[in-house]
Amino acid sequence: MRKKDFDVVIVGAGPAGLAAGYVLAKAKVNVAIIERGTFPGSKNVMGGIFYRKALDDLMPDFYKEAPLERHIIEQKLWLISEDSVFSTGIRSEKFNKEPYNCFSVFRAKFDKWFAQKVQEAGALIINETVVKDPIVENGKVVGVRTDRPDGDLYCDCVIAADGVNSFLAKSLGLREKITPNKVAIAVKEIIGLPENVINDRFGVSNDSEGVTIEITGPYFEGMESMGFIYTNKNSVSIGVGTIIEDIIEHKVNPNDLLEKFKTHPAIAPLIAGGETKEYLAHMIPEGGYYAVPKLYTDGFMVTGDAAMLVNSVHREGSNLAIESGKLAARTYLEAREKGDFSAKSLSAYQTKMEESFVLKDLKMYRNLPHLLEEKRYLLTKYPQLIIDSMYNIYNVDGVSKPDKIKAIKERLKKDFGYWNLAKDMFTLWRKLG
Ligand SMILES: Cc1cc2nc3c(=O)[nH]c(=O)nc-3n(C[C@H](O)[C@H](O)[C@H](O)COP(=O)(O)OP(=O)(O)OC[C@H]3O[C@@H](n4cnc5c(N)ncnc54)[C@H](O)[C@@H]3O)c2cc1C
Repeated sequence: MRKKDFDVVIVGAGPAGLAAGYVLAKAKVNVAIIERGTFPGSKNVMGGIFYRKALDDLMPDFYKEAPLERHIIEQKLWLISEDSVFSTGIRSEKFNKEPYNCFSVFRAKFDKWFAQKVQEAGALIINETVVKDPIVENGKVVGVRTDRPDGDLYCDCVIAADGVNSFLAKSLGLREKITPNKVAIAVKEIIGLPENVINDRFGVSNDSEGVTIEITGPYFEGMESMGFIYTNKNSVSIGVGTIIEDIIEHKVNPNDLLEKFKTHPAIAPLIAGGETKEYLAHMIPEGGYYAVPKLYTDGFMVTGDAAMLVNSVHREGSNLAIESGKLAARTYLEAREKGDFSAKSLSAYQTKMEESFVLKDLKMYRNLPHLLEEKRYLLTKYPQLIIDSMYNIYNVDGVSKPDKIKAIKERLKKDFGYWNLAKDMFTLWRKLG
């Protein structure tokens, strides 16, 4: 009989791998998580807003002890041009009540804490170890080869949670090479500011309440870019993510983009006087539903960013990672009952994912990446029209309101044409419906 070191080997101790490890360890499965960083979280970057629900289902009330920054009571969306902002969003006292919707977090602290819980549940976490290859015998994944001497580990099943570059999923032919139109590069700074300054600037009454601002619009000159500002306890996370294809086409440097972004007249006052504490860069898989690969093969399942599970419209990734890790682990438990880790048996994971909010949400936006590639003006001309129209309506200059509305309608007709406007609205409704 082939040697077996563990029942399951999980590659990567981010949210996906840790969630899978937690479920398996709780079920008394002999599980190892291999992490290349010096500790879980040491290599991880996120904006980051962490949604409670997926982890709370596994670990009820975790938020009462986890190292979190602020719970978010207001989420804003800004459309910006060089000199203006159109702002919308939601602030609610319902978000200010336990168990809360989401929190700002630092992944280095949060992942470390999560890993501790997973270890307490019984999983073994092996840090500073890189998985180099899957071990495949007779077409079935039976383990992983690590960079340690005698570092081959054999198991019933490997769960890949190795992030956006997932070497494992690629080497097994599940994932194609990443193309620059399917991945964004995000650069982010953490800017230190006193708690009371953050409270005043963002309009919250104490250091446990937080605000997020997502920012897009004509300012980014037709690039698929999204800026963000999130409040932590005594710092602000600020960053810009841009599709790599646009960075190449527009010949921009992501760092320069962030530096310029920080000088925007509506943004500079929010970070004025702050001190940069940390600078981070990371890739985000943004290919959407059609970029999600087949999620299993013989003895193998793929989860989280490794499976391209990010909902960029709603800035959700860590919760999708946790949900997928959880469902992969549950699939393993069912497969173990049958003693069958074949692709057929593990295909139950794909079904579970199709039935979960993860793939349902991604499916809803499946046509969006293509639509935005095809109709770039949706990111520029329409937001510019909204910003200019709002400015004109609010600017008291002696022109009557009916004349202002008439001018907006004339611009709509001239810039888009009513027929094209109707077509765009219909396309949006149909493709997002
Ligand atoms: C700038 C930025 C902002 C974001 N903001 C948000 C947000 O606000 N909210 C949100 O929900 N999501 C956000 N995301 C997305 C979110 O970070 C990811 O979706 C989530 O981290 C995916 O978790 P994961 O466990 O799949 O992968 P990761 O968190 O990337 O973890 C992968 C782990 O695998 C390890 N690893 C990789 N290769 C190997 C190997 N060969 N051997 C051993 N270990 C390996 C890595 O060191 C890492 O620890 C953001 C992402 C970025 C980059």
